Amino acid sequence: MKVRVNAVTPSSKPVINAISVDVEGFAESNAQSFPISDNFLDETTQNCEIKTNTHVLLELFAELNIKATFFFLGRIATDIPNLVKATAEAGHEIGCHSYCHLRIVGLEKNDFKDKLTAAKKDLEDVSGQRVYGFRAPDFSITKSSIWALDVLKETGFVYDSSIYPFGLHDVYGIKDADTLIHRFPNGLIEFPLPTIELLGKRVPFGGGGYFRLYPLLLTKIFLSKLNKQGHPAMFYIHPYEVGPIIPQIPGLSVYRKFRHYYNCKNGAKRLKHILKVFKFAPAIEVLKEYNGSKFEQPERT
Ligand SMILES: [Zn+2]
Repeated sequence: MKVRVNAVTPSSKPVINAISVDVEGFAESNAQSFPISDNFLDETTQNCEIKTNTHVLLELFAELNIKATFFFLGRIATDIPNLVKATAEAGHEIGCHSYCHLRIVGLEKNDFKDKLTAAKKDLEDVSGQRVYGFRAPDFSITKSSIWALDVLKETGFVYDSSIYPFGLHDVYGIKDADTLIHRFPNGLIEFPLPTIELLGKRVPFGGGGYFRLYPLLLTKIFLSKLNKQGHPAMFYIHPYEVGPIIPQIPGLSVYRKFRHYYNCKNGAKRLKHILKVFKFAPAIEVLKEYNGSKFEQPERT
């Protein structure tokens, strides 16, 4: 399926990027990537990690007077409702990151829809906000799970931010997907994860492992380049990438340790630097600017 459709026209105002947080524990985040023992997957343990680390992010955003989009797992609305409430009360946008952290590829459509409906409702009930946006676990909307875009529309989402438009990752990505904000034929908006064209190749950047593994200067160069072209980036981070609680899973290979832990300890400092140098806002606000206010005003409580 060719994904590029109806590109949305950028405005001429200064570029404001989106900053997003995928709220989940380290173990549930990586449970489909490598073996993790049950004691790390225990939800009480993970919830403690999530609560502590997310509060660090909330404090950082408050200090810099920046509002963000927090894509929460639906289960967190039940397990840590006060965290969702506190995030909404601080003025951040509440988004949905599925009910549990399971890749969409391989899920049954009706089962995904039922759990997504429940997750959206629970997050809305707890936060008092309408949930506009969705981020798939592990960016798992790919060509084989593209049906999920219709499910998102049917369940009332306004935008998706799950597609990484490049083709070299072992888990996710759509090689020929549109790299800029665009609208699908079903009306759903896509805010893709950021890439930059380099020597004729698409290079991913702007969050998670790319942010941790690339030198800070390179992230800044890529962000500047995209912004100079008039386009916002969708920056993303996980609570465990700023810490202070970064669970150490025993028995990982040197490659896995590097890929998943490198620069986590410096995460808060590095993120703060980026947040001070570039302009950021919640995704829904960026989309309204970019799309000439065609979206409804988010309801704030
Ligand atoms: Zn995730």
